[in-house]
Amino acid sequence: MTRFARLPESLQTATRGHPRGGGGKSRARSRSPERDSRLTLPSPASETGGPNHRGPALEVVIDFDGTLVEPNVAILLVEEFAEDGEAVAHEIDRRLHEGTITLRDAWRRQAALLPADRLPEMRAFVRARVPLRSGARGLLELLGRYRVPVTIVSGGLEFYIREVLDRERLELPVRSDRLHVLPNGRVEVTHPFEHPTCRLCGICKAQLTGSSDNGVRTVFIADGSTDRYGAETAEIVFARGRLLDYCRTHGIPHWPFADDFEPVTRRMAQWLNGGRELPRPRPRGLAGSACPISAELLRRVAPSEVR
Ligand SMILES: [Mg+2]
Repeated sequence: MTRFARLPESLQTATRGHPRGGGGKSRARSRSPERDSRLTLPSPASETGGPNHRGPALEVVIDFDGTLVEPNVAILLVEEFAEDGEAVAHEIDRRLHEGTITLRDAWRRQAALLPADRLPEMRAFVRARVPLRSGARGLLELLGRYRVPVTIVSGGLEFYIREVLDRERLELPVRSDRLHVLPNGRVEVTHPFEHPTCRLCGICKAQLTGSSDNGVRTVFIADGSTDRYGAETAEIVFARGRLLDYCRTHGIPHWPFADDFEPVTRRMAQWLNGGRELPRPRPRGLAGSACPISAELLRRVAPSEVR
């Protein structure tokens, strides 16, 4: 069974293409030279029925806020659009990364502060103020050449992720939380990719990175402490920011990067063109983890995986 096949079909279909409404297509697009051609990357291997056609069987799962793009967009939006937003956003962020509230709690509190009637302004703000991380296009173009499936897996909100992808003319599948406007005008966040029972996170990154049942090895690229369970369960990890600290502290094998994707692209190119061998499979999962998938992986480490 493949990882995405575990999700209800209705959810898989809902995340393909550009389901975003709100008039984005009628808006004039930026026309810088590097955006002249739309970059279409393969769908996840599980959706195309097999591994890559060239190079080793890999797929890439990439976080959005603070990874594919430089800022944390959720915090930016709360700072910009919520009353007393800056103080509130940083208090929520501090408590989230201290572990005194869960990611789900953090989102519920932050989303409640966003004014639903200003969604068009928020979209325009994101298009103007959220750059891709340096080197992102180079990395994505490399992965496209080798037909490596790439999926954005984010605890952020689909509406602003789609806004950036549309601006950049990138066609990538997105697994993320979603913002809904209720009839009373308030907003709420829903979690279409949550774990069936665990409620620590809104989106279950461990579920989306932790399965290698289809023979495809998952590369996870991320930055935050909320990516910790994804890093505990993925085969191969590139880490920056707080996730880098977490990996170092807990002995999770990883490759570091900082402000630019260049080290990631260079290493991936070596693996894909055969210049370097892929790292050997590692025992995944972390002892003492609160994540049930991480704990389960640790329990069923096959002897052949530990070389
Ligand atoms: Mg992040």
